[in-house]
Amino acid sequence: MDETKIILSEKEMPEAWYNILPDLPKPLDPPLHPATKQPVGPQDLAPIFPMELIKQEVSMERWIEIPEEVREIYKLYRPTPLFRARRLEKALDTPAKIYYKYEGWSPPGSHKPNTAIAQAYYNKKEGVKRLATETGAGQWGSALAFACKLLGLECTVYMVKASYHQKPYRRVLMETWGARVIPSPSDLTNSGRKILEGDPECPGSLGIAISEAVEDAATHEDTKYSLGSVLNHVLLHQTIIGLEAKKQLEKVGDYPDVIFGCIGGGSSFGGISLPFVKDKLEGKNIRLVAVEPTACPTLTKGVYAYDFGDTAQMAPIIKMYTLGHTFVPAPIHAGGLRYHGDAPIICSLYNQGIVEAEAYYQNPVFEAALLFAQVEGIVPAPESAHGLKGAIEEAKRCKESGEKKTILLNLTGHGYFDLSAYDNYLSKKLEDYEYPATKIEEALTHLPII
Ligand SMILES: *Cc1c(COP(=O)(O)O)cnc(C)c1O
Repeated sequence: MDETKIILSEKEMPEAWYNILPDLPKPLDPPLHPATKQPVGPQDLAPIFPMELIKQEVSMERWIEIPEEVREIYKLYRPTPLFRARRLEKALDTPAKIYYKYEGWSPPGSHKPNTAIAQAYYNKKEGVKRLATETGAGQWGSALAFACKLLGLECTVYMVKASYHQKPYRRVLMETWGARVIPSPSDLTNSGRKILEGDPECPGSLGIAISEAVEDAATHEDTKYSLGSVLNHVLLHQTIIGLEAKKQLEKVGDYPDVIFGCIGGGSSFGGISLPFVKDKLEGKNIRLVAVEPTACPTLTKGVYAYDFGDTAQMAPIIKMYTLGHTFVPAPIHAGGLRYHGDAPIICSLYNQGIVEAEAYYQNPVFEAALLFAQVEGIVPAPESAHGLKGAIEEAKRCKESGEKKTILLNLTGHGYFDLSAYDNYLSKKLEDYEYPATKIEEALTHLPII
């Protein structure tokens, strides 16, 4: 009855990922080739992705088996625990029940290895020798470095320059797992050199780093590109989070009224929410709330339009909520939430009113993170703390109304590599950036004309 951690045995770990594509009320608009603006086919993606992932991107199979070798590696940290946040509930004096799924339990400290391991596995199976990728705050780079090392692949990581300097320990972590880490924009690629000519001090962005990594993969035979979020197959691999959480809640006879999670590109939010979206489409009464930073308010302030996935216009054009591919957000500490777009699956669901979104400034988000650390112990990643802020606000509303809601939070990672951000918060040096209305307006004038 009074359990704090709800644990699944390794035997209870899901054996298949949930693919929402066949269950979507509206099919997704197809991704378009950046040059021809025609729908991309498998042959367009083949230079940068292995065939199995290209297939998963458009698969209409509802359940996709998790390969044995991937499951074996997952067992290093999965199933992850589901916690009941009793002390947080008490601190908030709320009648709501708050559960959090803790993905910081993985060796790299976030949910990201769930897809990194799967992607490295399929690449290796198809004879690829090296993966190139980008990283913002460093979580994706460290997850892919970890996965590549375990599966025997080389790994090159283009790291957003602002984070490279703000978060040196993540670079060390990536190098510990054998990866080569390059600050982006760099002078190693055409797209990097072009940016540096225009702005030698450019702090970088995920969009720029993506361009560099895609160029690296496209120009090397033995190398493919790996993306840590946004794409359908990434959300697919992350559904293990929601599938486990559902089983764990069943064990204590519970079901969420509302789910909160942060959103950067949408993979962890998709991961926890899509198995529940299925229930919602079948008639369940459940709310799904994505929480983003005010400094990069993709869902709450962006437009739903076709836009380039990256700054250099090399990646496919996708239909999504976007702030414009030229938008460079303020260097907030939640580096993983600085992408200009969001996953097409989540954008489509948001556009249809099936998922909701909220945005918060970073100081109130850190205030929530500090409260959480002081009552629950775990120091949340700045990204995760956005979802936490949403959940805390909901719990406070429950206090007002007396409602005994069940809240499920995706605590996507720990913040032990983000202590400089906590230092800034504690010494009152953390800035709340204004909602960048004019910058967004300007960036939206550069959308491709379809
Ligand atoms: C990368 C990251 C995010 C944001 O990415 P999504 O694709 O939106 O999940 C959130 N939390 C943590 C801890 C991350 O590392």
